[in-house]
Amino acid sequence: MSETSGKQWAIAIHGGAGSMKRATMDDAGVATHEAALHAALEAGAAVLREGGSAMDAVTASVVALEDDPLFNAGRGAVFTYHGTNELDAAVMDGASRAAGAVAGVTHTRNPVKLARTVMEAGPHVFLAGAGAEEFAREHGVEQVDPDWFATEERWRQLQELKARKLGWFDDGLKYGTVGAVACDAAGHVAAATSTGGLTGKRWNRIGDSPVIGAGTYADDRAGAVSCTGSGEQFMRVGVAHEICARMRLGGESAQGAADAVLAEVGAMRGVGGVIVVTPAGETVFAHTTPGMFRGRADSTGLCEVGIFGE
Ligand code: ASP
Repeated sequence: MSETSGKQWAIAIHGGAGSMKRATMDDAGVATHEAALHAALEAGAAVLREGGSAMDAVTASVVALEDDPLFNAGRGAVFTYHGTNELDAAVMDGASRAAGAVAGVTHTRNPVKLARTVMEAGPHVFLAGAGAEEFAREHGVEQVDPDWFATEERWRQLQELKARKLGWFDDGLKYGTVGAVACDAAGHVAAATSTGGLTGKRWNRIGDSPVIGAGTYADDRAGAVSCTGSGEQFMRVGVAHEICARMRLGGESAQGAADAVLAEVGAMRGVGGVIVVTPAGETVFAHTTPGMFRGRADSTGLCEVGIFGE
């Protein structure tokens, strides 16, 4: 799935890879998710249409997805084994390769905004847990009661996981990590990813999403990548950086690099998906799960969302 031409701007988003199939999702569910994806896509596209930066665009799209309880990020995040919500997020700017990330935050309404504040306020790249939240309060990033994140559906999924004694990476129960990649009119790219991680996770487990180079990466010399899937394998492969490295050093196409790196993840028995944008405004999707919530738009008028495989 690749789309390219001489573009002024382009954006792609994802709302998580998983076991979604046309046969198992009703029309109302499809319509609700498609509307949510369109709204998040438009939040970022509007920024780019008005000449805004790729970083502002990916932040706007991910904030919209975090605030939507349909997706596993911000409000609607999955529950840990102990019934809490622990959120991870990262952003990266392809022009400067500046990056910011947070893990295990429990009170920050929009973890992507906190990741961006970490990037902009410096000097660090990655903050976790209580320290990240102290930093959030010091920098005036909006804090909420942990109840803000909790939804009945995610609670039900945790109880189901416990009742069925499933492992904590179960395709059927994991949905909705979110991400965005964009290219602006100046040819700069940016990436953002945000997640509640895996249902039933324990021991302050952190996945690939906030790990720069694993779930999130941006480099104007190649492109911007945001990932979703089995985080442990995505970290071991360094998926987002590996895709950029293949494009930059090996001259591979975005689609070729994305497919090849997901095959490496598959060889480790990992599954998931990626979205990629290049500085020329090409947008690419790739996933090895049956479905991935996704969408893309650009200055040529392209505007589409999808859920299932082709
Ligand atoms: N990659 C995320 C994690 O491992 C989960 C997901 O994308 O659904 O935390």
